[in-house]
Amino acid sequence: MQSRYCIACGCEDLIAMPLMHLIVLDGECWSYVDTFACPECGRMEIYAKPEEIKKAIQNKKIDEEREAKLASLKKELDRLKSHHSELASLIADENQTVKAIREAKELMNSLENDIRSLESKISETSNGYNIHYW
Ligand SMILES: [Zn+2]
Repeated sequence: MQSRYCIACGCEDLIAMPLMHLIVLDGECWSYVDTFACPECGRMEIYAKPEEIKKAIQNKKIDEEREAKLASLKKELDRLKSHHSELASLIADENQTVKAIREAKELMNSLENDIRSLESKISETSNGYNIHYW
């Protein structure tokens, strides 16, 4: 263990205290920390594990990327649904030709497949969020 000393009074006999939790990184991430108390002045020093802090930062970055991807997929889903509903209106319009209605129905079928596959992609992407404590 690297040597530690009290930065308030210079005492070098810091006492290791039982582990406690400390919230780090915007209150979203947790880490176990080592705590030391100075027997001379009572100052406490808290050390998180650097590898755990790095892991938390990495997990947060992964989740942010996933969030951005989800937003983009949901936007595309809204676009497809809106197109689908336009086609439904066109089909319901009595003034449309048989040909236009047939084409609209074919396009709707294809859109429905795209919507289903996008919805399952969104569901897959939503799963597997990192938990920011360990
Ligand atoms: Zn001290």
